[in-house]
Amino acid sequence: MKKVLLFALSVLLLLLLFTIVRTFSVSSFQSKIEPIPEENLPIDAALRRLSAGVRFKTVSSLTDTKSNSNEFLLLNEHLRKSYPLIESTLKKTKVSNFSFFYEWEGKNQNLKPILLCAHTDVVDVDPSTSNLWTHDPFGGEIRDGFVWGRGAWDDKSSVFAILESIEILIQRGHVPERSVFIAIGQDEETIYGKLGAKAITEVFKKRNIRFEYVLDEGQIIAEGLIPGIEKPIALIGIAGKGYLSLGLEVDLKEGGHSSMPPKETAIGILSSGLSRMEENPFPLSLGDVQKTTFQWLAPEMKFGSRWIMSNLWLFGPILKLRLNEKNSTRAQLHTTSAITKISGGFKDNVLPANAEATVNFRILQGDSHQGVLNRTEKILNDKRIRLIPPDTIFEPSSVSKIDSVGFETIRRSIQETIKDVIVAPAIVSAYTDSLHYGAVADNAFRFFPVRVKPDDVKRFHGIDERISISNYEEMIRFYLRLILNSSN
Ligand SMILES: [Zn+2]
Repeated sequence: MKKVLLFALSVLLLLLLFTIVRTFSVSSFQSKIEPIPEENLPIDAALRRLSAGVRFKTVSSLTDTKSNSNEFLLLNEHLRKSYPLIESTLKKTKVSNFSFFYEWEGKNQNLKPILLCAHTDVVDVDPSTSNLWTHDPFGGEIRDGFVWGRGAWDDKSSVFAILESIEILIQRGHVPERSVFIAIGQDEETIYGKLGAKAITEVFKKRNIRFEYVLDEGQIIAEGLIPGIEKPIALIGIAGKGYLSLGLEVDLKEGGHSSMPPKETAIGILSSGLSRMEENPFPLSLGDVQKTTFQWLAPEMKFGSRWIMSNLWLFGPILKLRLNEKNSTRAQLHTTSAITKISGGFKDNVLPANAEATVNFRILQGDSHQGVLNRTEKILNDKRIRLIPPDTIFEPSSVSKIDSVGFETIRRSIQETIKDVIVAPAIVSAYTDSLHYGAVADNAFRFFPVRVKPDDVKRFHGIDERISISNYEEMIRFYLRLILNSSN
């Protein structure tokens, strides 16, 4: 017995030793690039332009298009007047009604161009919460070190910061080596870029334009969001999850009087199907992108977390349990499904023949929309629940390369702009326009340098959206460095 115990103990010790050696044998993925000394930017004027931009209610809306149209027109006019050098130097192509792209011709036509993109539409402010805002959601107020309002973060800060940087560079007489395209879409938040990103991508395809890389919103600079690392972490999105909204319908053809109900009703059948779906989520897995993120972060962590992250072959299941605790981290590990709409019935004493629901899926790399349909059918296991063929489908994106001009340029520009930053590749759970632009680019990256603390996460599409003045300045500096670095 003693021998067995001794043997088990020595195996454990060896294992421990092995994991510790592994922990410290993984060297840092961070490259030694120092921030470039800050030069003076016309930040006050830049803030006024962003603030005025927030005041236009460019709310994406499928119903009230007339009054919205005017807001989009006014915002575009504001952009045109704000950046006169861009207007006079760059080629502008209008697409659909309010989308457009600029082309800044480079000196070297042998180099593939790059594409920076952003969108001018914003999500609406929930009327029941508008009085909870500290400042008017469409006031664009500059107070307490922030610009406040819907779009100050998502995504007008990108639109304006990109244009600010280019206006500055033109003023300095800079001509890029590689052509720079800037695409501004109008409908990222509602119809998934149909009139914006998708239509612009069609123009690029027709003109046979292919980009070295595209940079879109998506990932952020996380501050205090990842346990074990105190420094700001710039997560560069290298892949985006797919998207599918699926309708479920039960149609029993006849309803009836609620005083003599059948054993099962349309609403009951649908509800139990939905509940089976919630009881059987897609399994969690640590895919290649997620593993790469942890590999990059591990050497920067304090011992405990570093030990776990460096030995995923052993601690993978423990890590999964930890990531499973939070909705935001769990979403990175599987295809998610969320019941977002349900309807059925119209009177308290009438049995409806019909009930309907919508389930929204975000598809992880490795899964596909067909796989989601097959699995859903299997779990529902009830012929009375019909799946309505979806009209919006996005397969998960391909994974962009880390050893590429695009990733290196973005990484360098981040490090030249943000002090003490850690960079790591990551996945993006939400739809962004790059799901379209990716079709005309060798690599698509999803990152904009907004700093997000735990308290800020809820501001995204929520109450008190804002961007700090210092962060906005960093954004302009980042795009400025990016364009200069892309010239190489
Ligand atoms: Zn956005």
